[in-house]
Amino acid sequence: MSRNKKERSIGYPPIFTSFKPVGVAGRHLSNIILTIDEYEAIRLADYEGFNHDEASKEMNISRSTFTRLIEKARNKIAQMIISGNMITIDGGNIHFRSNIIKCNNCGHMFNISIDKELNSCPNCNSTELFNLAGNFGHGKCCAIYLNE
Ligand SMILES: [Zn+2]
Ligand SMILES: [Zn+2]
Repeated sequence: MSRNKKERSIGYPPIFTSFKPVGVAGRHLSNIILTIDEYEAIRLADYEGFNHDEASKEMNISRSTFTRLIEKARNKIAQMIISGNMITIDGGNIHFRSNIIKCNNCGHMFNISIDKELNSCPNCNSTELFNLAGNFGHGKCCAIYLNE
């Protein structure tokens, strides 16, 4: 195991990547980037209810790094809901452990290991699949990281 400490392990890609306040045109809004590791910190601690110790192990980072990360993430979300900014989830020095494939034909979503591929929808056999990790520019890099 020779893992780069800067690279953070993320469970699976976010399904929703962009949020904006209702009733304001996008061009009038400033956009905040919530990095994928910041998103994961919110998901683990505030959505799944992990404590900081458990969550930091899940992400392969130290507990103090996790604490700084979640404070930054909460501050961005507070900015968004108080000041009415747009927020986009993207970037960060991360790799995914699992992928989500969405079928554009029937709408089903499938959680698969990051080193696996899906060529057709197990539900409707359509080949019109949307690869969420791929959409973030990830996939092969994550599989290498996972198997290191
Ligand atoms: Zn389908
Ligand atoms: Zn990757």
